[in-house]
Amino acid sequence: QKYSDYIGRFAPSPTGDLHMGSLITALASYLRARSQNGKWLLRIEDVDTTRAQKNSIISILKTLESHGLYWDDEIIYQSQRNKIYSEYLQLLKEKKLLYKCICSRKKLSQCEKNPVTYEAIYPGFCKYLSNEKMAQYSIRITIHDDNKISFTDLIQGKHEQDISKEVGDFILWRNENIATYQLAVVVDDELQGVTEVVRGSDLLWQTPRQIYLQKRLNFKTPQYLHIPIATNEKNQKLSKQTKAKQLKNEEAVENILQALIFLGFNNDIIQKAKDLNFSPFDLINYAIPLFGYLKIPKKMEIITQY
Ligand code: GLU
Repeated sequence: QKYSDYIGRFAPSPTGDLHMGSLITALASYLRARSQNGKWLLRIEDVDTTRAQKNSIISILKTLESHGLYWDDEIIYQSQRNKIYSEYLQLLKEKKLLYKCICSRKKLSQCEKNPVTYEAIYPGFCKYLSNEKMAQYSIRITIHDDNKISFTDLIQGKHEQDISKEVGDFILWRNENIATYQLAVVVDDELQGVTEVVRGSDLLWQTPRQIYLQKRLNFKTPQYLHIPIATNEKNQKLSKQTKAKQLKNEEAVENILQALIFLGFNNDIIQKAKDLNFSPFDLINYAIPLFGYLKIPKKMEIITQY
């Protein structure tokens, strides 16, 4: 099979089974990659090994396969890549961009909060601490003033963030001696050659941080396409915390149809799948040439059944 230069990916965190929200993201990135004749890679974001569960990984892989979503190349597991991340951390250290932070949760709770994300805006408490004799610390990257990052998302349009004012110096390395999501995702997207990131819009506001890191590490910035996230009737993101239902593999065709409708497909596809007695794989192949990201609604939509 001949692939184009397009490389997409799906990067689930194995903190539970896949639910409708994750299927929508997986399907969108899959259809986008295949409609570009590109590769679709799978990366398990289990960098946080305390929360990641082995059983979830097995269940995620099984659900993807039963839903006709087959990935290319080897699966990457972040839990095995801490050494790689530390090498890039070292590069940033050599550029004198890093400092150690010993702030407690309590101290951080005193920070001003970003009014949109409710995240603490870190005001640099530890920036000028002397480096000696710290047993446990996390590592932050310095954001110089006036670091406005702007990018154009294919669905959400132009997005701009002043990281120093809206986020502050953020953590790249945790005191448990593991990379944070921000560092791992940037390194992996670069090393896997990802040309476009398709993921949920809950990560839109984290993207400027990732672009900032890409710039400091001389990496390419991929194209971004943030799809709306599925919510329940209480307007909460579908997740393990909000008790989203696990997908039933026996209902793969129905699940895929539901996800396709969310992604802007016409209801006719439901009848078509019935008439032609599609398998999950047939249905997805049928959907590839009909997929277009311009059909995806920009705002969140409510899926009440899940
Ligand atoms: N692992 C993240 C999640 O499951 C997704 C990260 C990404 O796509 O960049 O929410």
